[in-house]
Amino acid sequence: MSGYRQGDSGLILNEPLLWEKGKKGRCGFSLPECDVDEVSFEGDLAGDGPDFPDLSEVEVVRHYTRLSTWNFGVDTGMYPLGSCTMKYNPKVNERQASLTGFADAHPLLPEVRTQGALKLMYDLEHFLKELTGMDAVTLQPAAGAHGELTGILMIYAYHKKKGQIRTKMLVPDTAHGTNPASGALCGYTPVAVPVNGEGIMRVEDVRELMDEDTAGIMVTNPNTLGLFEENIREICEIVHDKGGLVYGDGANLNAIMGYVKMGEIGVDVMHFNLHKTFSTPHGGGGPGSGPVAVNKTLEPFLPVPRVEKIQDTYRLVTDYPDSIGRMMTFYGHFGVMVRAYSYILSMGAEGLKEASAHAVLNANYIKERLKDTFHLAFDKTCMHECVFSDARQEEDGVTTLDIAKRLIDYGFHPPTIYFPLVVHGALMIEPTETETKEDIDNFIDTLKAIAKEAKESPELLKNAPTRSKVRRLDETAAARKPCLCG
Ligand SMILES: *Cc1c(COP(=O)(O)O)cnc(C)c1O
Repeated sequence: MSGYRQGDSGLILNEPLLWEKGKKGRCGFSLPECDVDEVSFEGDLAGDGPDFPDLSEVEVVRHYTRLSTWNFGVDTGMYPLGSCTMKYNPKVNERQASLTGFADAHPLLPEVRTQGALKLMYDLEHFLKELTGMDAVTLQPAAGAHGELTGILMIYAYHKKKGQIRTKMLVPDTAHGTNPASGALCGYTPVAVPVNGEGIMRVEDVRELMDEDTAGIMVTNPNTLGLFEENIREICEIVHDKGGLVYGDGANLNAIMGYVKMGEIGVDVMHFNLHKTFSTPHGGGGPGSGPVAVNKTLEPFLPVPRVEKIQDTYRLVTDYPDSIGRMMTFYGHFGVMVRAYSYILSMGAEGLKEASAHAVLNANYIKERLKDTFHLAFDKTCMHECVFSDARQEEDGVTTLDIAKRLIDYGFHPPTIYFPLVVHGALMIEPTETETKEDIDNFIDTLKAIAKEAKESPELLKNAPTRSKVRRLDETAAARKPCLCG
């Protein structure tokens, strides 16, 4: 039985600023008596110094420990944020990333001193090629959106090289907002491709919209409804027939590792989100990594420098006249690459396949167990995430936002809400492969309990969250005038 249990929602301690806490003369350490003469500073160094509060050791330790408990992450509990793949990141990969040889390597070291780091990058590119059936990879982009920009710049350079300036880019209306934004940044007007009653793109729509003014299409597969674009092969053919290229948004790769090779389906260029699929913690604004893979057609346009193996030496090569140039200072976020490399090696090919299989199984389990309680947007087998709506709860005046806020009271991070835009009041749930059956069952039972509350006492949802440190916020004011102290 799920529901509120003592301790589920946490012991949350308030904490003032250190400046409000300190007392003059307090100190966190004791030094031996001074046995040399005191000298006072002159000139620029003179003065009172910065205004630091005086604190004891325990005050400082409690301050930061308490602040750390205000944060919710995958190490705290289930974080079923659809499209974001908030899976647990094994600590062994953190350990590899913090090895001195990797963590302290300076990007300006000569190649002869960085052979290990370059080999890691070279091998990681190879693993990503294997996994997707693509021909070459750059690790430079700093995030998924940056990978999209890189990919679309390459598509632009490809058409330009052929003496063509195309003006439009097809983007399905289930796409992540970064897709049309990346297209627009490269000068393309995004043209929406509607989804059909099954939640995927129709061949006829693409055929009608694709013309010789259109640079290509951006496809997320599985799409943000968690559904596989079953017509992808035909769609790729139509786009290619008109001289366009196919961009694959690979943010949802966690659903298909080892099962689907995008290169063989007809995708020309795609990005990965190492910070979603390959074991880098994310969501707190830390560095990400969005490598981009291409087929032979686009390989000459990849950013430089590229990592190459010449005889037995790894080299950073810049001699590519058609390259779009650099996308990052230096080579990208190396620490994230180490985590991904370590994750891929520790999982192995079979392990990655199993991870995807479990991610899909878990999402379908949730879909089946909740579809009598919540309205299911598209009632068919899903991939790594399932999308419900608030259509049934709306009858009682309860919305998706209320349901999400109530989940916080029960100790769960809410799923993604109001996205994708094609589902009214969407609740998009991605459990990932790393949750246990017990935790998933608890999450399901909790959502059922919340649906019951919605019928019997909707005010509980309207006022939620009531057990968290911060109550229901005016979300607009919170974004525009943030209060950054406890
Ligand atoms: C997360 C995501 C992106 C953007 O990736 P970032 O690393 O956040 O820039 C793009 N497309 C989809 C489908 C995503 O889920």
